[in-house]
Amino acid sequence: MNLNDIVKIQDVNLDNKTVVVRVDYNVPLKDGKVDNPKRITATEKTIKYLLGKGCKLVLIAHLGRPKGKVVPEFSLAPVAPEVEKIMGVKVHFASDCVGEVAEEAVKNAKNGEIVLLENLRFHPEEEKNDKEFAKKLAKLGDFFVQEAFGTVHRAHASTSAITEFLPSAAGFLIQKEVEFLGGALENPARPFAAIIGGAKVSDKIMVLNNLLDKVDVLIVGGGMAYTFNTALGYNVSNSLLEADKIEEAKSIMAKAKEKGVKLLLPVDNIAAKEFAEGVETVVTDSPNIPEGFMGLDIGPKSIKLFEDALSECKTIFWNGPVGVFEMPTYAKGSFAIAETLVKLTEKGAITIIGGGDSLNVLKKAKISSSKVSHASTGGGASMEFVEGKELPGLTALLKK
Ligand code: AMP
Repeated sequence: MNLNDIVKIQDVNLDNKTVVVRVDYNVPLKDGKVDNPKRITATEKTIKYLLGKGCKLVLIAHLGRPKGKVVPEFSLAPVAPEVEKIMGVKVHFASDCVGEVAEEAVKNAKNGEIVLLENLRFHPEEEKNDKEFAKKLAKLGDFFVQEAFGTVHRAHASTSAITEFLPSAAGFLIQKEVEFLGGALENPARPFAAIIGGAKVSDKIMVLNNLLDKVDVLIVGGGMAYTFNTALGYNVSNSLLEADKIEEAKSIMAKAKEKGVKLLLPVDNIAAKEFAEGVETVVTDSPNIPEGFMGLDIGPKSIKLFEDALSECKTIFWNGPVGVFEMPTYAKGSFAIAETLVKLTEKGAITIIGGGDSLNVLKKAKISSSKVSHASTGGGASMEFVEGKELPGLTALLKK
């Protein structure tokens, strides 16, 4: 899927319409206030664009996991004043997302104003993708805009069923995700490299297999690399090892060979006696780990090997740290990857960070995510995109 496949808000006439917008306002709250408004500011471009068209906006969202029940601590009420502050227009809050309360609130709001509706997930029908519930949501507007990338891998009433009852289009956040993730997978500037790290091979098998059909270079790091190095005959001692995935690792390496993909693994490591800071560490000079030690980060030779392989690449996708970056002693490798991506972005490469823990690496390294071409906001959604799975919330936006 690429940007040309989906209906965009710029493609349709939305002048003076009442638009239901699915946003991701699953923000952290503290003492009844929004603690970090990043997810709200992320929607500013789309919201202001729609307000500029004279629209009345009905924002639908979820917060936390209330599991189909009204749970006051997951109310979106504290989010409304923050949205008002950021968007600079009147924001009405309705204490239910469907029914009379919601309908009245929408009726009472003027064009150029916003209505924020209470948590969708207070209703069990939302996560069941219930059509009757979706119809009630659809009744609140003339058009639907999807802006919550983090939810598009789920078939929920507010991501999927609603699009059966309202004409629908993608907001700018969705467009950026599809532009970068879709662009990299369908038509990347080459050479195209992926760096896949993280704890377990089992979590990344689908990602690795799908990427092998697309990339020129595949770098495997982190805990999962030890299963690969074991498959190559090295002794990884107490490192993380999934013995039942050794065959899988072998078949991934065989597929890489067959496809002419350069697959790189760590050639040295920072190893420690315990999974902790302040304990005895060694820099191993090979993929072998000494008896009694576990590999917790890639070593300097691996950093150099990976940097050299990446230096000529024009598109780079990164998901998963190459070490236990949460502890400073084992963060060097992941920080080096982050810094390399920044440098390559400055040189004109397209660099994409696929959500989750790699974003935490940037944060820890005090690198702004604006220093890479695209930092995906949807952990699960971006992984499933890269796994090549169908995302119901995006399928719903395809041009008919
Ligand atoms: P994931 O969620 O699969 O991307 O995994 C991220 C986690 O992998 C982080 O919490 C890292 O600490 C962990 N990790 C990375 N390298 C290693 C390693 N060598 N040993 C154990 N855990 C690791």
